Amino acid sequence: MLKQVQHDKTKTKQTSMTINQNKVVSVNYHLSSHIDNETPELVEQTSTDHPFTFIFGVGQLLPDFEKNLLGKKVGDKFDFKITPINGYGVSDKEMIAKIPKEAFHVDGEFDSERVKEGEELMMNDADGNQLMGFVQEIGNDYVIMDFNHPLADHNLHFVGEVLSVREATPEELDHGHVHGPGGHHH
Ligand SMILES: [Zn+2]
Repeated sequence: MLKQVQHDKTKTKQTSMTINQNKVVSVNYHLSSHIDNETPELVEQTSTDHPFTFIFGVGQLLPDFEKNLLGKKVGDKFDFKITPINGYGVSDKEMIAKIPKEAFHVDGEFDSERVKEGEELMMNDADGNQLMGFVQEIGNDYVIMDFNHPLADHNLHFVGEVLSVREATPEELDHGHVHGPGGHHH
């Protein structure tokens, strides 16, 4: 009898662990996004087999995403929206660049295999920093590249459920990432 009660206590303790600083959290969610007055589109969908697993409170995620999960427990559902300003920002005209076509030459020829409208390209700036951008337009002698985040100006809508919550191990906190299922294996 006594044994049975203790067993139940342990169970309750595990399932009632709440999401807060340094917890490893797995969530299953559906993210859709839209620019004001446009129809939402699916951006990302996890599954219970492949949930999104992360360490809470270590600065890797949108602060508003974490704020909306704080204090939740396994089995809790969530449904929240994040405005562009609190999400991936508002697009900046300065981040759209008209670049001479020569910058896209490989062996003296325009790289039409890789440089196509709508394609994502990694480029180096003058300081050698790598920037990810989208090919917006290809002209006769120029290419317009958009280096804004693809979700800039987008309202984000997350709907999902908390699948698991546990303490991060000291090693995980040291590495800054999750080990084991949903994380690094090393
Ligand atoms: Zn590691």
